[in-house]
Amino acid sequence: MGSASKLSKASLKSSGKKKFLVFTIEVCPSCNFKTKRPFELGDFVFKPSGECSHCNKDKSIIDMIYAERPKKS
Ligand SMILES: [Zn+2]
Repeated sequence: MGSASKLSKASLKSSGKKKFLVFTIEVCPSCNFKTKRPFELGDFVFKPSGECSHCNKDKSIIDMIYAERPKKS
């Protein structure tokens, strides 16, 4: 984790403001299938989401929301 914070400091210095990409992880309580999708406004952890695309039995629940630094291409 030490090296990660060094990296973020360096990128802030070199490129000024950088937008983070925010993702939402949904998990189905029935089959445990996880979905990663771009964050949408109004998302929060434990919010019931759409029907599970894997088993179609249950609704996915938002498990985690996290931000990723965009990769340099
Ligand atoms: Zn499922």
